[in-house]
Amino acid sequence: MTAAAGLVLATPAAATDRGPGAPGIGDSYFPNHGNGGYDARHYSLNLDYQPGADLLRGRARILATATQHLTRFNLDFLLKVDTVKVDGRPATFARTGLHELEITPAQALTSGKPFMVEVSYADTPSKVPVPDETGGFQPWLATADGALALGQPQVAWWWFPSNDHPLDKATYDITVSVPKGTQAITNGIKVKERTSGDKTTSTWVMDKPMATYLATLFIGQLEVRTGQSNGLPVVTAYSKDLGRYEAAAKESIEQTPQVVDWLAGYFGRYPFRSMGGSVTSALPGFALETQTQPVYDPRFFSRGPDTYVVVHENAHQWFGDSVAVKDWKHIWLNEGFATYAEWMWSEKLGEGTAAEVADYFYGLWPADDEFWQVKPGDPGAADLFHNATYYRGAMALQALRVEVGDAAFWNIVKTWPSVKRHGNAETAEFVALAERISGKQLDAVFDTWLFTVGKPATSPNGTAAA
Ligand code: ZN
Repeated sequence: MTAAAGLVLATPAAATDRGPGAPGIGDSYFPNHGNGGYDARHYSLNLDYQPGADLLRGRARILATATQHLTRFNLDFLLKVDTVKVDGRPATFARTGLHELEITPAQALTSGKPFMVEVSYADTPSKVPVPDETGGFQPWLATADGALALGQPQVAWWWFPSNDHPLDKATYDITVSVPKGTQAITNGIKVKERTSGDKTTSTWVMDKPMATYLATLFIGQLEVRTGQSNGLPVVTAYSKDLGRYEAAAKESIEQTPQVVDWLAGYFGRYPFRSMGGSVTSALPGFALETQTQPVYDPRFFSRGPDTYVVVHENAHQWFGDSVAVKDWKHIWLNEGFATYAEWMWSEKLGEGTAAEVADYFYGLWPADDEFWQVKPGDPGAADLFHNATYYRGAMALQALRVEVGDAAFWNIVKTWPSVKRHGNAETAEFVALAERISGKQLDAVFDTWLFTVGKPATSPNGTAAA
């Protein structure tokens, strides 16, 4: 599904309207991520996993629409492929570039027409060499009793072939077979589960558009809890070996429904039809806002329960998941908002108002600190998750709030995820919306906080000086 068709057509794919699809969707930071020439609409994944051996066998059926006359097109994928079919007919395929699976259908695809590509594969994902561009980051973690697929921006390459960019969201159904006694958790709602012989097979449905990096797979001998909140299913899952983190992790994650309700008061209706959270001893080293089912490293809870990280990942369900970036350079639209939500939570808990927290972070980094050298509005690929993306991004929101006043600010914060719901967005569109709602010219405040290297002369509240 491509919300911003205009942007896709502006990619190199448009240059040739007959021929091969482009090997990248046109991202300014990751030019080879995603692909041109088609629009993925639905992924139907059928997976079988053997823990221990780390053997993943899969069959992915991708329903897509050609956006040009296509003699050839790419998927992004790293695992070993056995066969590829397009519309039921065998297709030839080749590996090119870092992570490209180049597919030549028996017959060229017609622009505007749907097609179905089916890829069968089997591999040991943890053994697949990690491409240099990920900086050694390994998004597939095999554990003694299962595995975890979690990463941003790269992760899908290790478990399903895709058009790997947030610009091409799609719906999903994911069926996973694991040994009896083992659980598999993925996104959305579990609609079916059956044990036959020594295998348990479950099917999950994500019926709202999802970016590829927001798909997750968590397999292990887990403690799975199910509940309901406002009629929506709640799934929480914990690996059984959390040890000293267990109690604090559960106490935190089990507050997800209350956190989501509280966030909805500011951000508008929750965009999805289920919610939850997973904590895993696979130790990813971070938390990630995987759609409806964020995943948390247990070490977030090493000093006791921590609801800030729960607030952060669930704020991303609006900012990042429902409203996804058009290009990775707009990452502050995700992280700035999720961080600002933490500051709002601080205010609610009586641990400092958002304004106070903003000024605290402004004062934390001295003017000569490297922190101020990264522009949150364009941090660069290597600094996608730099502190500036998070904290200076959130400071930009506080500065906006001071500039437009509380009434306009909360209106902007609620309107943005509503007008962009299940779509894609970029910074200029946010600025335009903020200007429309506030009736103010806001270039100066956004330039100062998002696009200018160096420490602004005064704090987000205009109170403290550098
Ligand atoms: Zn975040």
